[in-house]
Amino acid sequence: MVYYFGKTKTEGKKATKAVLGGKGKNLAEMTSIGLPVPPGFTITTEVCDAYYKAGKKLPNGLMDDVHKAVKLLEKELKKSFGDDSNPLLVSVRSGAAVSMPGMMNTILNLGLNDVATEGLAKATKNERFAYDAYRRLINMYGDVVMGIEHEAFEEAFTKIKKKYKVTEDTEVPAEGLKELCDAYKAVYKKGCGEEFPQDPITQLQLAIEAVFGSWNADRAISYRRIEAAKGNSEIANLIGTAVNVQAMVYGNMGDDSGTGVGFTRDPNTGQNKFYGEFLVNAQGEDVVAGIRTPQPVSEMGKWDRKAHKELMEIKKTLEDHYTDMQDIEFTIEKGKLFMLQTRTGKRNGIAAVKIACDMVKEGLIDEKEAVRRVPASDLTHCLLPSFKPTARNAADVLCRGLNASPGAAVGKLAFTAEEARRRYEAGENVILVRRETSPEDVEGMSAAVGILTSTGGATSHAAVVARGWGKCCVAGAGDIHINEKAKKITVNGRTLTDKDTISLDGATGEVMAGEVETQEPKLAGDFAKLMTWADKYRTLNIRTNADSPADSKRARDFGAEGIGLCRTEHMFFEADRIIHMRSMILADTEDDRRAALKKLLPFQRKDFEGIFKAMKGLPVTIRLLDPPLHEFLPHDNSAQKEMATELGVKPAEIKKRAQALHESNPMLGHRGCRLSVTYPEILEMQVQAIVEAAINSAKKKIDAHPEIMIPLVGTSAELRILREKVEETIEATKSAKKFDGKLDIKIGTMIEIPRAALTADEVAEYADFFSFGTNDLTQMTFGYSRDDVGGFLPEYIENKILQIDPFQSIDQTGVGQLVSMGVEKGRSIKKNLKVGICGEHGGDPQSVRFCHEVGLDYVSCSPFRVPIARLAAAQAAL
Ligand code: PEP
Ligand code: MG
Repeated sequence: MVYYFGKTKTEGKKATKAVLGGKGKNLAEMTSIGLPVPPGFTITTEVCDAYYKAGKKLPNGLMDDVHKAVKLLEKELKKSFGDDSNPLLVSVRSGAAVSMPGMMNTILNLGLNDVATEGLAKATKNERFAYDAYRRLINMYGDVVMGIEHEAFEEAFTKIKKKYKVTEDTEVPAEGLKELCDAYKAVYKKGCGEEFPQDPITQLQLAIEAVFGSWNADRAISYRRIEAAKGNSEIANLIGTAVNVQAMVYGNMGDDSGTGVGFTRDPNTGQNKFYGEFLVNAQGEDVVAGIRTPQPVSEMGKWDRKAHKELMEIKKTLEDHYTDMQDIEFTIEKGKLFMLQTRTGKRNGIAAVKIACDMVKEGLIDEKEAVRRVPASDLTHCLLPSFKPTARNAADVLCRGLNASPGAAVGKLAFTAEEARRRYEAGENVILVRRETSPEDVEGMSAAVGILTSTGGATSHAAVVARGWGKCCVAGAGDIHINEKAKKITVNGRTLTDKDTISLDGATGEVMAGEVETQEPKLAGDFAKLMTWADKYRTLNIRTNADSPADSKRARDFGAEGIGLCRTEHMFFEADRIIHMRSMILADTEDDRRAALKKLLPFQRKDFEGIFKAMKGLPVTIRLLDPPLHEFLPHDNSAQKEMATELGVKPAEIKKRAQALHESNPMLGHRGCRLSVTYPEILEMQVQAIVEAAINSAKKKIDAHPEIMIPLVGTSAELRILREKVEETIEATKSAKKFDGKLDIKIGTMIEIPRAALTADEVAEYADFFSFGTNDLTQMTFGYSRDDVGGFLPEYIENKILQIDPFQSIDQTGVGQLVSMGVEKGRSIKKNLKVGICGEHGGDPQSVRFCHEVGLDYVSCSPFRVPIARLAAAQAAL
């Protein structure tokens, strides 16, 4: 249950992060490689689990083990708990296996009581310091362990400051702080009905329970839920937090002491330069809370050359040991440097790519490790839009803050987390503007497109959380004055309200008025290099879902090796086309339908020619019309009237047709291949357009490889009949065009109805390829309407009925079985049957891994997710 770390012994060297938590594991590891770490011990995450399982009771024997560890600590440091001349003091901190910045409780200076405070005053020859530490403990302990309002302590402090006629905390003399401790003890007693505990072991036990308790505080639960919803599956499976009890060292012992935090490389850009901040004469919490604005570590040498030099040496030792960028906390006590924490540094995707590539160059890791290192979904940060240079140059810059997390965010001002969330849910893009953020704000931060704070540094809460989420953040923009009540900010003489739009540049820290135009990203530099490494190792092909030449080209630029899904219905919605589509739908006879379809044909042919050209010889899977026809008709009166005028018919006629097409359950209605069975002329027009486009391309020496895909097949008979129809149309078109060259046209189907997966051996007889349409397959396997899940899915995930949103990441145990069965059965008839996936899941890293494992040939996803899929496919193969 308890692992000691210190000079005497380090027990946690081989224990895992799952058991010791990230912080505990790394404290043990740093101690074992000889870094200066204050000694202490870690209580495991399993104890937290046992605590909850026993109905919030510490397991038997835990406090005996804690006692033993304390004894060892006392012996090693030659100090003892509650001593009147040289007392031992400890910090008590949480630390789960996955970092949750600022979400759980911390208690400092534990072990102080009336006697030990005198002892500390003697030992440090600094009475003021000792009473300052004591009052901090009573306050923190009262607040964190006993839940006493912080305000009550503040009021007592204000009274003392008044009495001594000072305004700053630091100006209150020792005598005043002594009085303050008595006042705080009274606040404590009033707040919880008990005396402040004088026994350090009692303090320790309650503090341990408080840390375990904070594991299930609302804010911690929210944070885990948001992270899990973003696909962080590790966080969803944690069993609890560890507790780290560690001897205190002080950064607030005077001007030769200080404390700081930092990253061994820049977490925004990946530059190999120590990136951090420190505060002289302060405790760690002061830096992270963003209350005082710290100085950059690059200035630290001017203050203490030796400590700065040692810190830079530790940077190298840590990176050599962990072979990764680290996020550290350190304290300097009277000129002596101590390491309090190290962990793998959170970084955005841009930095992740640069650091991985640089570390290959530096010989710290190899290419394969670089490919494994970068979380595939974090590549979205490399694919973020940025501001157009011309628009940026012309922008109206309001002020500049710290470039805390890159990106280009444009939105209206929102002043509280609650407001940000509400307006986001109403469909608005908002930027959350706060003096500083705290863990209570995470829901609003998640809802906002960008975060702007007026105080706090690059390692403040806002910056750390935003960076972890790849969200644009500008921190510490000191020129901004926020009036939360009036929903106003003033900045350099100008006033903006919640109705005003601003633009944030997270890369430069600039805050601009109005909407600044953005531009699309490019695949170049280190990003391109990492992609070529990924391509070396992956075995899955990556295609894209695209239905226009522009999207096709973009996807090719991102490395797509073909189109896996061209949804032809998207080609019917433009104004000059929809009119023909609508007259086709209104037609009463086949002849009239054919006449309308004839007008659509040239549009389709031209689109296909454009796509073939853009894809330069790569395969293009074209899906025949899929949605129910009523989707193409307007439903409100005025739009129906407008359509009637356009088509020269009576509005009543349109209403009648719309009513006739109405279905109670359109997703299970007259759609997909059922349309082609009942209206074969639609299929004929589409196939004719595809073949003519292929012939025209061949004439222009453009290599075209269309693959005709029939959607929503549930029985092999549907595919048999439609395949025959497609083949007939291909032949008829070739002979009408007098084309006797060879065309490479494959005919296949989507597997998106459970019955098709179950009978895939029968279906495969008529298919050259399968493509799993996992959107519909998920809808029909779960029986959840994909358009209506918003009503219950969030609650399902919150209550852990479902671990993930099955429309985002494939449900491997259920839907996944149908996929693997479909592959097996299909290939039992046709050994080389080509099989892919084109549902949304094709761009989700965990689903890509699954597709690799069940032996698919390719995944197909939207153009912007192509690089993510390339990397995820390589990670699955490694
Ligand atoms: C699917 O169902 O997975 C699919 C790709 O088709 P659509 O989303 O167009 O229904
Ligand atoms: Mg579908």
